[in-house]
Amino acid sequence: MDDLFHFEWQVDQGGYEIVPAGDDPPAIERPAFEDPHIVGGWYIRRKGGPLRAYRPLESAPGLARLFASLPRGPQALLDFANEFGLLGVGRREHSGEPAWEERGDRWHESVFGFGLVVRDIDSGNKRAMASAFTKYVAPRMTVRIEVPPTGRLSLEVAPIDLMSAMWLQIAREITNETKFRKCLRCPKWFPYGPGTGHKATKHFCGDTCRQAWNRQKKREG
Ligand SMILES: [Zn+2]
Repeated sequence: MDDLFHFEWQVDQGGYEIVPAGDDPPAIERPAFEDPHIVGGWYIRRKGGPLRAYRPLESAPGLARLFASLPRGPQALLDFANEFGLLGVGRREHSGEPAWEERGDRWHESVFGFGLVVRDIDSGNKRAMASAFTKYVAPRMTVRIEVPPTGRLSLEVAPIDLMSAMWLQIAREITNETKFRKCLRCPKWFPYGPGTGHKATKHFCGDTCRQAWNRQKKREG
């Protein structure tokens, strides 16, 4: 990953929970998905523990792919939030601070959107997808100047929220010809091939999964 993009995001170490939305109107009037049981109103909410910062573009380059492949229903989204935090799609009205809770239907709509795009990429439709990306997807970015204690100043482009960071991953996948593969053992996705630091023969997200897989194969004899 080159140095132009910088993104830090936060995860509540106390975890997240699903809470009913009560009588709030749905966030999306006509959801693109049709399962009635998931359209119903609920939120994913922070529990309010201390925050842990991480850099998704560096530590989770396949995050957009993982997100695009999440199954329907609250549990998968909750698992995602517990590991990677909220999407940053909700803002508190006056402070501009990220909200503590986000609508489940908005999450599902987003998973659906990412799913459409990666299916197009995988079917080799990259040029059409690139035009659609520019026309319809508007990831939110800002520009910062990194000031180290010594040495030269550097320009950084920074996504505003996790959703925008994942769209940036998709845009880079479209333009860099980076390929992604799902780990044989867990739901994670990782880049492979030239320029990624990972061989084309790599099939696991990391040593933990590779070793666990090998142990299991040995047991099965
Ligand atoms: Zn894995």
